[in-house]
Amino acid sequence: MPSYVNPEKCDGCKGGEKTACMYICPNDLMILDTEAMKAYNQEPDQCWECYSCVKICPQGAIMVRHYADFAPLGGTCQPMRGTTDIMWTIKFRNGVVKRFKFPIRTTPEGEADPTLGKPDPDLSAIGDNRLFTEVADNVTPAVPEAVAWK
Ligand code: SF4
Ligand code: SF4
Repeated sequence: MPSYVNPEKCDGCKGGEKTACMYICPNDLMILDTEAMKAYNQEPDQCWECYSCVKICPQGAIMVRHYADFAPLGGTCQPMRGTTDIMWTIKFRNGVVKRFKFPIRTTPEGEADPTLGKPDPDLSAIGDNRLFTEVADNVTPAVPEAVAWK
């Protein structure tokens, strides 16, 4: 089941030009009905249930089917995003409700170091087939010119 917007909860991100769900969807599926001020998934067949819109919606208005590895079919799953964790509420088909809280990051926002203290990659070495973290004496043969990445 693709994402579904509960119109009772959606406030159209209070009339912003681009709603949070439109901003985050990697497949550009979410769209805002500017008259009703409600968002919807304009092409449900293309939704890969990535949960990005579900997690970012400030109103908790979007639902997606949960994955079968953590709840049996027929239930619902609703994540509520906090600053340091996500609270997942699972409602099973027999009415039982369980909540799980998971941390979402260990590094303060904006402080991730993508190279983990190593020097910035040398873009002139883009054709070298070694990983940029590979030490110099762990040398692998150079990529033949014909297949080197240009
Ligand atoms: S992010 Fe949530 S509240 Fe905002 S438009 Fe999308 S569904 Fe509605
Ligand atoms: S679940 Fe992912 S792919 Fe589907 S509408 Fe939401 S953000 Fe887009």
